[in-house]
Amino acid sequence: TAEKNDLYHFEKANRNKSLKDKSSCFNAMLNRLEVNREFTYRRMIVSATGRTVSVFDNALKKEREMLMFASNNYLGFANHPYIKEKIDAVIQKFGIGIGGPPLLNGYTLLMNELEDRLSSLKKKEDTLIFPSGYMANLGLASAISNTQNNFVLDKYSHASLYDGIKLNNANFKTFRHNDIGSLEKVLVELDQKKYKETFVCVEGVYSMDGDLAKLPKIAEVCKKLGVLLILDDAHGTGVLGDKGGGTAEHFQLEKDVDISMGTFSKAFALTGGFLSADKDIIEYFRYYSRPYVFSAALPPVTIVSVLAGLDLLEHEPWRRKKVLENTKYAVSKLRGFELTAEPEAAIISVKVPTWINIRNANMQLDKMGIFINSIEFPAVSQNDQRFRISISAEHNQQDIDKLVDCLEEVWHDSAKNS
Ligand code: PMP
Repeated sequence: TAEKNDLYHFEKANRNKSLKDKSSCFNAMLNRLEVNREFTYRRMIVSATGRTVSVFDNALKKEREMLMFASNNYLGFANHPYIKEKIDAVIQKFGIGIGGPPLLNGYTLLMNELEDRLSSLKKKEDTLIFPSGYMANLGLASAISNTQNNFVLDKYSHASLYDGIKLNNANFKTFRHNDIGSLEKVLVELDQKKYKETFVCVEGVYSMDGDLAKLPKIAEVCKKLGVLLILDDAHGTGVLGDKGGGTAEHFQLEKDVDISMGTFSKAFALTGGFLSADKDIIEYFRYYSRPYVFSAALPPVTIVSVLAGLDLLEHEPWRRKKVLENTKYAVSKLRGFELTAEPEAAIISVKVPTWINIRNANMQLDKMGIFINSIEFPAVSQNDQRFRISISAEHNQQDIDKLVDCLEEVWHDSAKNS
């Protein structure tokens, strides 16, 4: 395993060395991996991201085209001409940036408009916009943590939520992934300890497996026990729901979600994140959420790109339909593989058995022109290593056929070599 998981073992073995010693050893290891082309991190993209990308191949010293199955560009907005046109116009009026946080000089008319449009997408009264989804979750935790309240998280919640909670020394418990019995048990035990307020946090579409939260049951439990529900819908926003409102819209449960979190880094193919909730709550967050108060506002070009993306959610609903059809088609073609969960949005996770060296397998896919992400130990346990496939509305059936053919070839070759 030391061979397979160098990054993890390196850090464990060298944690207490001085920074200088540690970084020079690390660079020696990295060189070996890069020279032998043993990993697929940090590939250099030299084109726009779409159904394909061009990468610069260091070994061949030239660019080559790859089929892109690793980007969260679910709807194909990353290089959409309508969005690019909107950017040109806004640069003429607003310039490139703003140079300050929203509470001081960074709040634009465009940001105000985006808050309103996201509030209607999420059927909430108001919205707060952050420089990233990661910061939105940090901001949420920073504004609501106190010694008398508690977070109850699905165990598979994103790192940004765990980090926010830890940064703020908040009380938290986890429940087993999507397990309603486990959630109820944790909540009942907490109730007996007389904490004043509890926030249950779940994701709409889970980022590692692509399964949906059992939102109807979760909302029912939250209501029954009088606790608040927070939904991180990074991967559902834009993709699910009749209007692209996300997982809550898909289940028609917008009213049962107290705080809705989303990102611009997935379907909108940008950066940024947001929280939507009742007006009073958002107005409070505006002054007490540290990443909002102490970090510069998103530039107008990003804001206008999200606004244009929202226009496209209305005008090109076929993209939502297409990405979901593509996912269904891919799942039907992947019948011979084990998936980690039933995919219901645009993420498919293919389990990579332990007899396959995932890093070598991904290198083989890379050479075949398939750009895919490996999720390795320690991000998941060794038994759970997987390839995470992101489907886009821009893919066609031939692209998906090629992906599956390549995976079959890799499985076949690995079996021969194992
Ligand atoms: N929440 C979830 C569920 C995510 O998957 C991510 C991104 N991987 C984030 C939050 C953070 O979003 P961002 O990349 O926009 O910072």
